[in-house]
Amino acid sequence: MRKIPMPRSKFLRVKCPNCGAEVIVFNKAATVVKCPNCGETIAIPTGGKAKILGKVVETLT
Ligand SMILES: [Zn+2]
Repeated sequence: MRKIPMPRSKFLRVKCPNCGAEVIVFNKAATVVKCPNCGETIAIPTGGKAKILGKVVETLT
């Protein structure tokens, strides 16, 4: 059995604001996440929770 130490860590399905592609982003991403399709920045690390720039369409827990 695996325990998840950080209950607020989760993956988000984010829609790219530029091209509409859906990108899976860790909500505590430590690096800038860019859209693989157009290169638009999707998430920026803030030291804690990442700042999500696109529209979150789904939260994956
Ligand atoms: Zn894009």
